[in-house]
Amino acid sequence: MTESRYSERGERSHNGEHSERPRRYVSRPKFCQFCSDKNLVIDYKNVEMMSRYINETGKIRPRRQTGACAKHQRQIATAIKNARHIALLPFEGDFWSENN
Ligand SMILES: [Zn+2]
Repeated sequence: MTESRYSERGERSHNGEHSERPRRYVSRPKFCQFCSDKNLVIDYKNVEMMSRYINETGKIRPRRQTGACAKHQRQIATAIKNARHIALLPFEGDFWSENN
């Protein structure tokens, strides 16, 4: 019995077949959160909420990850840009040291 595992040797299939990779599914809402919950308001001052819509590098997550509809994704994007403007970009430069 051979167990097929991923070895660290980096085996290549000789017949040119693309090896199957386990797909990682990011947990995402099936429906737009903002459409399903009318009480939920996109607020750029709500840092906690905003942080859910950006990734580790501070970029806005794509719609397939956020699950938001086009309309709300747009609002999220705008809100994040606002949040960046007030919170992440100091108006007086030289505030952040480059790389310490
Ligand atoms: Zn929506």
